[in-house]
Amino acid sequence: MLNVLDYFKIIQKSKTNLSLFFLFGFSLGLMTLANFNIAHGSHLEVNTTKISENIYLIHGAGADVILFDGTDGVILVDDQYAPVTDKMKLLISNITTNPIKFVINTHLHPDHTGGNKKLGEAGTMIISHDNVRKRLSEDQFYVFINQTVSSLSEKGLPILTFSENMTIYQNNEKIVLIHLDNGHTDGDSIVFFTNNNVVHTGDVFSDRTYPFIDIPHGGSVKGFISSLEKILLTINNETKVVGGHSGISNQTEVKNYLDMFLDVSNKINNMILEGKSLDEIIMSKPTSKYDAIYNDHSFVKPNDFIENIYAGLIKR
Ligand SMILES: [Zn+2]
Repeated sequence: MLNVLDYFKIIQKSKTNLSLFFLFGFSLGLMTLANFNIAHGSHLEVNTTKISENIYLIHGAGADVILFDGTDGVILVDDQYAPVTDKMKLLISNITTNPIKFVINTHLHPDHTGGNKKLGEAGTMIISHDNVRKRLSEDQFYVFINQTVSSLSEKGLPILTFSENMTIYQNNEKIVLIHLDNGHTDGDSIVFFTNNNVVHTGDVFSDRTYPFIDIPHGGSVKGFISSLEKILLTINNETKVVGGHSGISNQTEVKNYLDMFLDVSNKINNMILEGKSLDEIIMSKPTSKYDAIYNDHSFVKPNDFIENIYAGLIKR
């Protein structure tokens, strides 16, 4: 486990030419987040998988979306990219005639909030953590796609926000929204459908791809670890876990993800304390044990993950 003293030692050592890391968390052009590109998506198909009696997974373009259907109204968790909103609505209309009452945003990223505008304009109420509304109210620059995403107008913004937790009672279900620590971003939440025992984790967990810490938007190494720990305290061995981009997983896969994160970040932390440079750390291949599992998704490459962890540790 990383500790605060280690972070202080790192900060003492790191008054070098790492301005890019301090500013952004990683170097321009480093990330190869094709899935994140907001121009991406309009040509892609979206499709559904049934998770339980009235919960579906919508998968295809941006983030994985949960659709929870019932006579009180449809509840969505995240809403993919803007260009696929119409396709997604069409697909939903083939499943249910109930109106889309709520959308819950797990965090601010445009592959999770792109549908807000059209859905909000059509009367859907959007819910999120306070920080998501705050950030979506302003233009956001994403260094890893070198692109500014414009602020949303009032209709596309969350109108119900919370600071820690929120509970929604709809369709005979108790839905618990739990804010996590500053892990992927500073506005992360999980959405837990307690009776169905289904959880959406946002991008704090996305199996078979290395994690991504959005440092400029408040993410951190320490928060990522405590967020995964919090998820594990919430779920059990029968929970169906919907990750940000990885379909349906389970408790064991979340545990393995946390173990991998702890192992790799501890290795990198120790090497920083030994005075190793980033190049030396990359050369030592601290992720090699895991590359067969987490590097087959073309989302975050091993070296991107190493640089991302390194930047997170240096920043603290
Ligand atoms: Zn994200």
